[in-house]
Amino acid sequence: MHRAHLDWPFFDLGHRALAAELRGYAPKLVAGLDHHDVDGTCRRLVATLGRDGWLRYCVPATHGGALPHVDSRALCLLRETLAYHDGLADFAFAMQGLGSGAITLAGTLDQQARYLPRVARGTAIAAFALSEPDAGSDVAALHTTARADGDDYVLDGTKTWISNGGIADFYVVFARTADAPADGSRPTAGISAFIVDAKNPGLSVAERIEVIAPHPLATLRFERCRVPRAALLGAEGDGFKLAMRTLDIFRASVAAAALGFARRALDAAVAHAASRQLFGQPLAALQITQAKLGDMATAIDAAALLTYRAAWLRDVHGARTTAEAAMAKMTATESAQQVIDAAVQMFGGRGVRTGEIVERLYREIRALRIYEGATEVQKLIVARELLAAHRASISPPANEGDTR
Ligand SMILES: Cc1cc2nc3c(=O)[nH]c(=O)nc-3n(C[C@H](O)[C@H](O)[C@H](O)COP(=O)(O)OP(=O)(O)OC[C@H]3O[C@@H](n4cnc5c(N)ncnc54)[C@H](O)[C@@H]3O)c2cc1C
Repeated sequence: MHRAHLDWPFFDLGHRALAAELRGYAPKLVAGLDHHDVDGTCRRLVATLGRDGWLRYCVPATHGGALPHVDSRALCLLRETLAYHDGLADFAFAMQGLGSGAITLAGTLDQQARYLPRVARGTAIAAFALSEPDAGSDVAALHTTARADGDDYVLDGTKTWISNGGIADFYVVFARTADAPADGSRPTAGISAFIVDAKNPGLSVAERIEVIAPHPLATLRFERCRVPRAALLGAEGDGFKLAMRTLDIFRASVAAAALGFARRALDAAVAHAASRQLFGQPLAALQITQAKLGDMATAIDAAALLTYRAAWLRDVHGARTTAEAAMAKMTATESAQQVIDAAVQMFGGRGVRTGEIVERLYREIRALRIYEGATEVQKLIVARELLAAHRASISPPANEGDTR
């Protein structure tokens, strides 16, 4: 496992100690995991990570967390290390954070006290339900409705691609409490967030979805699903902003998971190149191999710098990191795909054999370029931030002009 980056100025002594402890722990956590029974394995992983204190990094200290605030660098170090060892272990950890993130950001004290300590202990499994069959990249196309009715809201609609769907104890669900303005000016207005317990009548799992790197995933159906007003998370109409604020935090951690996969692939490639004999010499002695290894190592360091820059900015400066997190996510996931592909190539036929580490990584990395905003969406986010800053620089606020 790689340590050199821990000397970078992004980290403090606490992060270095956390990484060292985790390095000893992670191999034991993943030893003998059963990847055929993904539901059972995920449940056990959440319970074990909770019992051993690691899920405390997903919530703030006021509700059983390890640190006063959810710390992006700790999240990234955890995801990078867990992903290095096992994609499902990373998934189980990450979803506790993503699924509860909106509660940490906008929950009332009652909501936080009800859910966050259980998330931290691993006794409640969390999920984040934003995507719909016709609303993935285009969140504004979201159709699920939440109609106010007396002291309740009634939810109707379909959510899909929901990680932990089928095993979660609660879902943070985004639904329309009002139509967006007809003039198209604010297409994401009218979206609100709700906490819906899995056993709530009217919520069912319509379909389980199987993907190339298996993990619990489902389509959810809401049919006259009645929840109390107390289930509203944040203010009515603030749901889109809340979803984006949550994703701002967790996108950098997706980058960190990609980093873990890429580092594992590079280690496997180096070991293989050093031992595989070709044309009377080790594969590693061939200059084309060396050039490839040079590219892979450089891509990994570039991705790590962007990832930990985004995490550090949020932790230390409390800054909005929309553009930085998007840059980290797209760079780390895209370059990890290339690094892993290069490792598969270096393994030759063995690279595509079921059960080889690089074969598993090749399947694990693919979805990270799509979920929490596909790479194309990240590019648009970066450009939007850039253009907004430009507009602000050429047209100062009115009162600034008045003083001239
Ligand atoms: C394994 C997995 C887990 C997931 N977990 C969750 C979860 O827990 N909760 C949740 O809410 N959602 C989840 N998702 C959904 C995920 O966020 C969406 O799949 C993603 O946002 C893309 O939406 P879509 O699948 O509808 O693709 P579409 O929106 O149809 O996009 C298709 C493709 O179009 C391209 N594209 C997008 N925008 C543009 C553009 N402006 N210009 C050109 N091309 C563009 C991209 O390549 C994109 O992949 C998960 C998805 C996967 C695969």
